[in-house]
This record gives sequence, C-alpha cells and structure tokens, in this order.
Amino acid sequence: MPTAASALLMERASRAIPGGVNSPVRAFRSVGGTPRFMASAKGPWLTDVDGNRYVDLLCSWGPMILGHAHPDVLTAVQEAAARGFSFGTPSENEVALAEEIIARVEPVEQVRLVNSGTEATMSAIRLARGFTGRTLVVKFAGCYHGHVDSLLASAGSGVATFALPDSAGVPADSAAETIVLPYNDVDALEAAFAAHPEEIACVITEAAVGNMGVVPPGPGWTEALLRVTTEYGALLISDEVMTGFRCSASGWYGLEGPYAAGAPDLFTFGKVMGGGFPTAAFGGRAEVMALLAPLGPVYQAGTLSGNPVATAAGLATLRGCTPDVYAHLDATAHTIADAASAALAGEGVAHRVQWAGSMFSVFFRDGQVRTYDDARDQDTEAFAAFFHAMLDAGVHLPPSAFECWFVSAAHDAEAVDHVLAALPAAAKAAAATRHTSA
Ligand SMILES: *Cc1c(COP(=O)(O)O)cnc(C)c1O
Repeated sequence: MPTAASALLMERASRAIPGGVNSPVRAFRSVGGTPRFMASAKGPWLTDVDGNRYVDLLCSWGPMILGHAHPDVLTAVQEAAARGFSFGTPSENEVALAEEIIARVEPVEQVRLVNSGTEATMSAIRLARGFTGRTLVVKFAGCYHGHVDSLLASAGSGVATFALPDSAGVPADSAAETIVLPYNDVDALEAAFAAHPEEIACVITEAAVGNMGVVPPGPGWTEALLRVTTEYGALLISDEVMTGFRCSASGWYGLEGPYAAGAPDLFTFGKVMGGGFPTAAFGGRAEVMALLAPLGPVYQAGTLSGNPVATAAGLATLRGCTPDVYAHLDATAHTIADAASAALAGEGVAHRVQWAGSMFSVFFRDGQVRTYDDARDQDTEAFAAFFHAMLDAGVHLPPSAFECWFVSAAHDAEAVDHVLAALPAAAKAAAATRHTSA
C-alpha cells in the first residue's frame, strides 16, 4: 500500500500545525505510524491522497451516520449554500433543527445551538451554575466532555478526590471546582454529596460512555444519578454528544428512559446532529433555559451558531435517520463485532465487546469493563498491531483502543465483507505481540 503522499503531507503539516493535526488523536500517537490524509469519501469508503481505499469504521467519530456525501444531505447543503453562507440574523433552518431535537427527546423543551460539543457542555455547566448559584461540578473518570478547563480533570478514581488537571494550562483552581468520581459507583456519588450537600451545581455524565471505549450505565445507575441530584438540588446534565441520535432516534434516552426518578435537567448534543458540519446544542427544561441571555442573566453567544448550511446538513441527516437506518446500524454493528470477536478468540487474544445500542467497542482484555480503571487495564500493544493490520488491509478503525467503532447506513454487504476478510490476519498480528513483548 503506497503511503508516500500521506507521509509528505504529514511532514508539511508538522511544520505548520503542532503535531501535524488539529485534534490530537488523529496523529496516531497511541498506535504509531503515520496518519493517512484523506482526499475524499463516499458512502462507507474513504480514499486517501495515495489513492488507497478504506472501509470507514470511524465515521468522523460518529457524525457520518448516513455515510459520506449522502445524496439528500449533499443536496440540502448545496441548496442552503446557494442561498448564502451565514447571515448573523435568525433564520428558519435553525428553528427547524431545534424543533426536530425537541420532538425526539421528550424532556428537552428548548435548545440553544452552538458550534461544538465542547461549547455545549461548557455552556450547560455555566447554566447549571447560574441556575443553582453553586460552583462545584461532579464528573466521572473516563467520561470526555470536550476540552473545557474544568472538565479536563479526570485523574483520581478515589472517592470524592478533588482532581488535578489532566492538561497543562488548566488552573488548579479550575480543576479544584471539579470532583471526579468513579463511573457506576453509587456509594462514591452519595459520599460526595454528603460531603458537599449545598455546593454541587451539577453532575455531568455521558449518557452511556463512549469515550473510554463503550461502558453503558449499570443497572440503576442513571436512576441513582437522578435520585441523588434531585435530593440535593443539583442539576443532572446528560451528555449525549456521542449517543444522541445514534443509539436510537432519541439517543440513549430513547433506549433507557423515561426514568422513575425523573429526567435529566439538561442534555448536550453534537456529532450526528450536525451531519459532519460544526453544529451542536444544549437544551432542557424551559424553566432552566429561560436563564440564558437575552431572557436571563447567563451569557452565552456565537457568531456562527445556528449556521444555515450546518443546520441544513443536520436537519437532512436527522430526517434521514429512519427506523430502517437504525435497524441496519444494529445488524451491521453486530455482524462486524461478532466476526471481530470470533477472529480474536480464534487466536486466543483476550478481548471483550461492549455495547450501547449500536455503538460498540472492543477492549483488549477479559472481563466486564465498568470503570475507567477497568478500561485502562487492557493490552494497547495488541490493539496497535490489530489496528495496523486492519489499516493495511483497507479498513480504517479509530486509532485508539479507547474509542468506539462506528458504522453507517451506507455500510453495505461489499463493505462489511471487506472488513470480515481483514479480521483473521489482524487477529494473528494482535496475537503475535504476545511473543515479541515481555
Ligand atoms: C465528542 C464529544 C464531546 C466534544 O465534542 P466536540 O465537538 O469535539 O467539541 C463532548 N462530549 C462527548 C460525550 C463527546 O463524545
């Protein structure tokens, strides 16, 4: 497989852009090697600058749920662009997209559109603090909510440890406003609230975790989050940036809700709802949303928020997500996951597949993964060998053992067969790392 053009671009990129990339995981640091620069994409296929084709199991980290350059989305984007790129005034598409989200996720009465998942969680936290008049935020180790200062803390899985920042440049004071707890641990949650009964503004959680690999909430976990936050007057923010409109037409809430203990106060969305364009949202109860400017005292804004081209792409994508699409995602994900599992088992490679709807990931370890500590305890070297064997065979997985594999409505029999054919050799490559290491 020729890679000279990608290598050349990476050299240029590394001079112009730190690390050669605009988002760190793209740099292949955890699997080694040189990232492939893509030139185009259509349906389930990516084509790189050397002319190599890959079945795409990354799907832009989730958004490309209908496949690349879907004709209906392309038409919507072209028509919107022909009418102008950005107005800086209200426009109809943003109303339609907001209505579409509200119609799908029952507890969401109003939304505000923003440009990235990071902005959505940052704004939701500001709103929760404004609403409660409190400061502390509870998050769970292994949950990713974008690169917001106070949410980059994830160290320390002990009970109610005040976190140290994960990133240089995050003031200790900002990290100290965040309490990091182990996921799926009700005792730790109750202990944190008992220690700070009137200081916690909100708990933010991934509705089902996708960012340490897939770790769904254990039985009763979401109910416990609702019960405890309600008891102490804190808000619950359900981060559905990844799960929203992917796990089901109404996201993770559509699979697990409604809940006996109430509903999350705020939700965040991104990825699928933008159809590959930078648009995201946060929303929830009207009573809480009413605190946002211009109605209320919590300031939040964006020059390009609700952009007419991005919202056209999002709207066409959501409208294209029919029940048939979700059934296809489920079936395709299971076919690929089962085959990966069989190939790895055939070579004696320890692994575990976990699910949240049609979202799945493969941990290179045995046994259930319930927490970040569990997730970190896996054989990343075996994953790296597996990843590169798949890449060389024309299958592009996420370049990290801690990420979901994504499929789309466009993954047809040809694409799936191509993945299945690549798996046995990749499993062998993963098994071979046992003999070369230690
Ligand atoms: C991707 C992601 C984010 C951040 O979204 P960006 O658009 O990358 O800023 C936040 N939360 C979750 C759960 C995500 O998966």
